[in-house]
Amino acid sequence: MDTIEVTLSVPSLEQDRFIGWLDSWATGFHQTDAHVKAYIPATDWTDALRNRLEARLRADGYSDAVAIERLEDRNWNAEWEESLSPVRVGSFLLCPTDHAVPDEHADATVLRIDPEQSFGTGHHASTRLTLRLLAEAVSVDDTLVDVGTGTGVLAIAACRLGVRSVLGVDTDSGAVKNAGTNVAKNGVADRVTIREGSIDAVPPDTQADVIAANIKLDTILELLPVLRTRLARDGDLLLSGLLTSQRSRTLDGLAEHNLTAVQEETEDGWWAVRCRPDSPRKE
Ligand code: SAH
Repeated sequence: MDTIEVTLSVPSLEQDRFIGWLDSWATGFHQTDAHVKAYIPATDWTDALRNRLEARLRADGYSDAVAIERLEDRNWNAEWEESLSPVRVGSFLLCPTDHAVPDEHADATVLRIDPEQSFGTGHHASTRLTLRLLAEAVSVDDTLVDVGTGTGVLAIAACRLGVRSVLGVDTDSGAVKNAGTNVAKNGVADRVTIREGSIDAVPPDTQADVIAANIKLDTILELLPVLRTRLARDGDLLLSGLLTSQRSRTLDGLAEHNLTAVQEETEDGWWAVRCRPDSPRKE
């Protein structure tokens, strides 16, 4: 049977609600940085459904964001499988539970990540960039706050790097559940606490050695003043989910809060930064 490939030009961090909505018709999804593709049996794809989808996109500010292609009896499922394939990032291999570790990655530190609907599989550059910064920033016995934990991937990676404890927070209840499950699967539940919420769910007296926030520019700039107060004087703040075009705006924001960039990473047009307080804060 033919399949309709519906491509929505919606940025990755906004794709979940369309996936949730199309879930009743689609038999699979494939996400990239700038698009989500839904695969719908041709017999279920109607003009009425298309009109409803377009109206919904318009209401969210995405006009002309739909492209349709008819695929002849194709194995669309392979694309979804691909999105769950293992990803190597430095010494880490992010690998779903039901995938065997490929022989060529026998040397890797394996992180078992089953994403469900959450973000953080390593298929997005912003996760890979944050993992690279994390590997530089974390020392044994450090404490980490992971803001926007998603699948819990950074929290789990940090445990493998030897951190003493992690607090992961996420405003999305699905992510909180998924992170908790992944943390348990990786055997690090004794060191990781996951809470629903944002920086408000991080106790005010926290002085973390490392804080990671892979979210997006506006949210990061909004959270920055409070993030700064939860960071130890010689702590490292890792910011990701940023485009290379947003670099100077971010650096300006950092300067306003007496933070200096000490490491920058880029990949596929995405940018991430590790920064530190300029000097001891005056209380
Ligand atoms: N840390 C993971 C996931 C990043 S995706 C990784 O590096 O891959 C960003 C996550 O931030 C999402 O799970 C989203 O639900 C969450 N999020 C968005 N806004 C937030 C906020 N204001 N506070 C906390 N979490 C937030």
